[in-house]
Amino acid sequence: MPSYVITEKCDGCKGGEKTACMYICPNDLMVLDPTAMKAYNQEPDQCWECFSCVKICPSQAIEVRGYSDFVPMGSSIMPMMGTEDIMWTCKFRNGVVKRFKFPIRTTSEGSANAYEGSKGKDLSSNLLFTEEADGKTLAQPIELA
Ligand code: SF4
Ligand code: SF4
Repeated sequence: MPSYVITEKCDGCKGGEKTACMYICPNDLMVLDPTAMKAYNQEPDQCWECFSCVKICPSQAIEVRGYSDFVPMGSSIMPMMGTEDIMWTCKFRNGVVKRFKFPIRTTSEGSANAYEGSKGKDLSSNLLFTEEADGKTLAQPIELA
């Protein structure tokens, strides 16, 4: 199911030239109704459900209702971006709520060195160089509740 805007929460990014959701959508689907100052998905059929607009919206005004194979009816999944991590709130059909926190980029854009830490690693291995032999990666999610 594509993204949709909860109009009560959307403030049109306070009238900026380009709203956050317009800026981030890889398929240019989000548009702003300048009269109502509300954004909407102009072509839901083309939505990839990539969650980018959901993550970037400063008002948490966008939701994606996932397909029922991974988000069954009555459950929901919602990301909240922080400056150093992202927290996913997963609500199950039986009412159980779990939150998972993942670290995200902490370096400024363009400054990341993709090869940092690769020195001395076997780059011909099937493992990523950030991956340990036991299958763990350097960035592990932390279950909060
Ligand atoms: S990013 Fe959020 S608040 Fe801004 S226009 Fe889009 S839906 Fe509205
Ligand atoms: S979920 Fe992705 S593809 Fe769909 S409107 Fe949002 S940013 Fe665009």
